[in-house]
Amino acid sequence: MQLSNYSIRNKLIGLVTILVIGILATSSLAFYFSYQDTTNSKKEIIRSVVQSSISQINSLKEQQLPDSEYLKQLKHVVYSTRYSELEYLYLLDNRNRFVFHPEKPELEGLSISTLKSVSHPEMFLEGIEKTVTNRSNFWTIMWPRPDGGPAIKKLTYAEVIPNTEFILATGIYLDDLGPLYLKRAASYATITVIVLLVAIFAALIISRNLVQPIIRLSDQMEDLSRGDMGQEFQSILRQDEIGKMARTLEHFRNNLLENQRLKHMQEHFRFLESFDPVTRLYNRQAMGEAIEREILRNHENQDPIFFLNIRFDLLRNLTIELGEEQRDLILIETAKRLRRLLNFNHRLGRLSEGSFGLLLLNPPQDDSIDSLAKSILETIEKPIQLDTVQVQISARLGITSFPEDGEQPFELLGRAELAAKEARKREQGWIMFNAIRQTQDEQKMELWQDLSTALDQDQFHLVFQPLFDLNFNAPLAAEVLLRWNHPERGPISPAVFVPLAEQSGLISRLDHWVLNAVAKQCRVWLDKKLPFPKVAINLSGISFMRADFEDKLQSIFNAHNVNLRHIELELTEGVLIEDLSRIQEKLNRVRKTGVSISIDDFGTGYSSLSRIKSLPVDNIKIDKSFIDDLENSPQNLKIVQAIILMAHGLQLKVVAEGVETENQLSILRKEQCNIVQGYLLSRPLPVSEFEALLDEDLVIEG
Ligand code: C2E
Ligand code: CA
Ligand code: CA
Repeated sequence: MQLSNYSIRNKLIGLVTILVIGILATSSLAFYFSYQDTTNSKKEIIRSVVQSSISQINSLKEQQLPDSEYLKQLKHVVYSTRYSELEYLYLLDNRNRFVFHPEKPELEGLSISTLKSVSHPEMFLEGIEKTVTNRSNFWTIMWPRPDGGPAIKKLTYAEVIPNTEFILATGIYLDDLGPLYLKRAASYATITVIVLLVAIFAALIISRNLVQPIIRLSDQMEDLSRGDMGQEFQSILRQDEIGKMARTLEHFRNNLLENQRLKHMQEHFRFLESFDPVTRLYNRQAMGEAIEREILRNHENQDPIFFLNIRFDLLRNLTIELGEEQRDLILIETAKRLRRLLNFNHRLGRLSEGSFGLLLLNPPQDDSIDSLAKSILETIEKPIQLDTVQVQISARLGITSFPEDGEQPFELLGRAELAAKEARKREQGWIMFNAIRQTQDEQKMELWQDLSTALDQDQFHLVFQPLFDLNFNAPLAAEVLLRWNHPERGPISPAVFVPLAEQSGLISRLDHWVLNAVAKQCRVWLDKKLPFPKVAINLSGISFMRADFEDKLQSIFNAHNVNLRHIELELTEGVLIEDLSRIQEKLNRVRKTGVSISIDDFGTGYSSLSRIKSLPVDNIKIDKSFIDDLENSPQNLKIVQAIILMAHGLQLKVVAEGVETENQLSILRKEQCNIVQGYLLSRPLPVSEFEALLDEDLVIEG
């Protein structure tokens, strides 16, 4: 038996049991010894009474009295030696006859064996016999009670009187000791019970205070080792060693939790490097790498590779209507269906919020790509049952092929995207990129080249479109819009050249040019002492996310001695799709320079209303596409209402852009939109006209 094999609880129970047995044994022994002592002292008393009488009798004998006198004196000694009410001496002779019996003189002369009143005369006789052989003897006899009751035990002592035929005896009723013993037993029992109770109580306290906490700690430690870290350690507030242990363990648990969290995060990040967390499909980067691998594999033989961009229609409307969660469910289900449809050799990925990409590893023959596209679209269009509603989505496909449409992954990816957009424009299910490449590509290439010379040759200028505050009916701000006067093609819309600049890497230079031009313009107005409203600058996400953007911004405006509180930056939702904590930090740093921030084209990207909550921005600009249809589309109205409500809840101002009709304006006014911008109120104006407008008092109708 090894003690360490038993639990603390069992050890405690063992200890208590030993204690209880010990206490019981001790008190029983004590009781037993005290019983013995009492009996012995009684024995001593009767023996000494008998012996002192015998010595008296001996001295009688020495007096050599005549027989009759001797007997008389003998009787006197026996009769007079009563040492208590019921205790007396009696004399027997060697034939078992009573010689003197002061209590019952009628027995004198009678033999014990003839006594009727004695229930067990043989016990008596046996005792006498032993007395004769041993010269003295202690034993018990059954003797009638003095009150006439049934016979009871009597402890008897007898001794032979030396050199005579007489035996002197006496006895005490054992019954007399009963009450004494009972009393004693009762006090022993009481003390034992009290000690037992105290011991059990102490054991309970130890159990509660020591054993149970230790058991709990060890249970929790076991849980911890099994990976269950959810429960905080108890007893951490205790001041003793258990508290110390609990605090140490709690600290340990927190470390484990932190490690686990970090590990999950790392795993998550590793996962995110290659996969879309929602659909668990390849992400854009992994898709690019897959394409690259395929290109390498097929490079020598120039075997064709097909890449499809699957662009979902109107997904953003669904998102706004049903929420991001439901949209994700739709995408997950769609991904599942497509995987089922496709050969496992194909690579399916999610390229953006609203588009998938598909790389065909074993491409079908040219004619069957059409039937594959068809079945992909049919699969996507099958209704999807969500919790409460059934939805149906549709998509457009843009298809590129290697080597025809490009030899780089980004070319295949980008052109497939262009083709998908074109398919939507032409209301076709799918389009092969080569069907649109001539017109698009060539024009673009030319523009790319022109753009960089345009920057050098100052072919750009700015126009200003005022934004009106609906409460004060006054221009509150002006959005700066870039204009490019192409020497041959004439004015080109920024909607065309800004995306081109973004793709070609020229955008930073372009944004830098605009910031500089705005700073210069503000300086002119400041010098003229013209009170001008806030100036809103469109900024590409690429420039904004540059690490040194805020420093550049500051230095440009410092150079013209213009305070940045005059400036607002318009960022599109696309920028906000970035990793949340990174974008929060960036926004905070940029806002520290004094600029305010507004979210442009709100509703077109896939960033959600809920995401805006955690971003430090000042305004939201509802995208023009929602305003266009405001009068006719109840759905758009609902979206606009929702955006306004949410923005106000977040203390953000709402701008409606692209307001073209009185009707739209009055609806927006009714919905408590704060700021409006659009052709109805003012087109983008050249500087001189804008300055003139600042002098006017403007009243907005509608
Ligand atoms: P945006 O930021 O959404 O700018 C609003 C666009 O809507 C402007 O087109 C403006 O002229 C137009 N607009 C304003 N009110 C109305 C209206 O009532 N009806 C209609 N149909 N259109 C209206 P614009 O100037 O062609 O600019 C197009 C886009 O080019 C801008 O969209 C912005 O994203 C980008 N952009 C313009 N200037 C710059 C710039 O300086 N830097 C950068 N990075 N991007 C710019
Ligand atoms: Ca804008
Ligand atoms: Ca806009």
